[in-house]
Amino acid sequence: MKKMIHQQVQGIRLSTFMGGLAFLVSFLILLSCLFIGYTQERQSIEQQVLELNEIHARELSHITESLVSSMQHSLEEGANYIINHPEQDVQTEQSNLDYFRNSSSFFNAVFLIKPDKTIVLNSPISLNQAGTKLTTTISIDALKAKRPTISRPYLGKINRTIILMTHPLFTSSGEYKGMIAGALYLHQENRLKELLGTNSQKTDGSYFYVVDRKGNIIYHPDSSIINTNIQENKVVQALMQGQSGKQIVSDSKGHTYLAGYSVISNVGWGIVFQTPIENTNIYSNMLIRSTLLYLIPVILLLMLFTFWLSHRLAKPLYLLAAYAQNLAAGHHGKNRPRLNRWNYEARQLHYAIMVLEEETREKEKRLQNEANQDPLTGLLNRRALQSITNNWVHNRYSFAMIILDIDHFKSVNDTYGHPVGDEVLKMLAGILRSQVRVEDLCFRYGGEEFIILLYEVTEQEVMEIAERIRQTTAVFPTPMGRAITISLGVTLSQGEADETEQLLKHADAALYQAKEGGRNRTVFYPG
Ligand code: GH3
Ligand code: MG
Ligand code: MG
Repeated sequence: MKKMIHQQVQGIRLSTFMGGLAFLVSFLILLSCLFIGYTQERQSIEQQVLELNEIHARELSHITESLVSSMQHSLEEGANYIINHPEQDVQTEQSNLDYFRNSSSFFNAVFLIKPDKTIVLNSPISLNQAGTKLTTTISIDALKAKRPTISRPYLGKINRTIILMTHPLFTSSGEYKGMIAGALYLHQENRLKELLGTNSQKTDGSYFYVVDRKGNIIYHPDSSIINTNIQENKVVQALMQGQSGKQIVSDSKGHTYLAGYSVISNVGWGIVFQTPIENTNIYSNMLIRSTLLYLIPVILLLMLFTFWLSHRLAKPLYLLAAYAQNLAAGHHGKNRPRLNRWNYEARQLHYAIMVLEEETREKEKRLQNEANQDPLTGLLNRRALQSITNNWVHNRYSFAMIILDIDHFKSVNDTYGHPVGDEVLKMLAGILRSQVRVEDLCFRYGGEEFIILLYEVTEQEVMEIAERIRQTTAVFPTPMGRAITISLGVTLSQGEADETEQLLKHADAALYQAKEGGRNRTVFYPG
């Protein structure tokens, strides 16, 4: 039974459980802090980047706008100069045109064109276009327009992607003399590209591009896509409708960007400044890293504290559980833990265990007494005699043994009945108790036979006690109205090992002699 109970005691320890719980709670707190921080910060980072990009786009559009008007203005001045100095030789005109091109470096090439489409001069001269005629519709249309124009990007006669800016040549009398045209090679260096290029790439992967009013790319850090049309792009569509602003946009390759955009109003172009959305992760990751850096030590400390606390809380309960297990296994009173002052449950449990333990001990004592006691007379029984005599013999105590038997007791029972006989037995037990010393022990050996063990007595002393008992009994009033007599056999321990049997035999022999000798007497062994 005990073994079974022992085996049933299984399960998670309270300290382990509480520690685990503390860990889980701390972990969840950490996770939710990170999650909330991350989502909130992400939104605000995205918003900030969008706003910044819109500002960038607007600034760039202002710069481009003023550059374009400077270019137009310089073409106009060039035109005025040509009109005002009509009678110059070809060489002077050529060097004037070269000077014009080099001094501003606005254009990659400059042309002087007659109304009949003939290119009169070109700078640089190495282009060798002088004397040839215009072929592209864009340049021919610009010539026919007779007003300042800016073309869309197109593939020019000399196989370059260009933007052509023109200004008409009118004399003071209003005669049309042709036009001066500046070409920007979109794949080569020029002031526009120089200006935009220095602002193009940022460390977080942000960049910008420029589109014309039809959605053709005029400038892009990836020059391979210059002159590609991207009018399906949402931002470009907004620009084509003359809107500036900011939005999250996806391109045809599925990349998502945080884009700010602004119209370059004097030419109808648009600038888009954008940041790949995944690049803003570096800000969120930085945030997570710094949050972790602060939170982890705090959480660790919190966990250690909770572990320690749960251990302290659980310890008294654990000790009590171990103690209760000990009790269940039958090891009484071993390692009982001290009463815990501040853990209410442990205190209650402690008291409960102590009460149970005390009750068990009392019960066992009672059972033990009952096992060693004769129920009729209240004296110790034969079983107790056996163990006590063995113990005294084993310890080599010096003691005496008296064995006594009621004379003709059978006739008492026969004459007055068994209950009266019992009363006589109780009466005799009372006499024995009253006649011995406190250190002596009285036993009912069986039936109407009794034994007394007397600690450290001489032969003379024990004989005196025996005689006193016999004499007292002989005159003691009984329920039947007549006294009884007893016979006694006395012997002394020899201080030998295992002499219990021998002692009984000797005392019995003495009793036998007393009976033989006529009863109501005491005999000492050896006689
Ligand atoms: P003697 O010892 O003098 O030789 O004679 P006796 O009559 O006492 O002898 P015996 O030992 O034969 O008888 C013992 C009697 O004790 C027998 C039994 O009826 C009685 N007796 C034994 N135990 C009890 C008991 O518990 N109660 C009562 N009333 N009588 C008992
Ligand atoms: Mg007898
Ligand atoms: Mg008898």
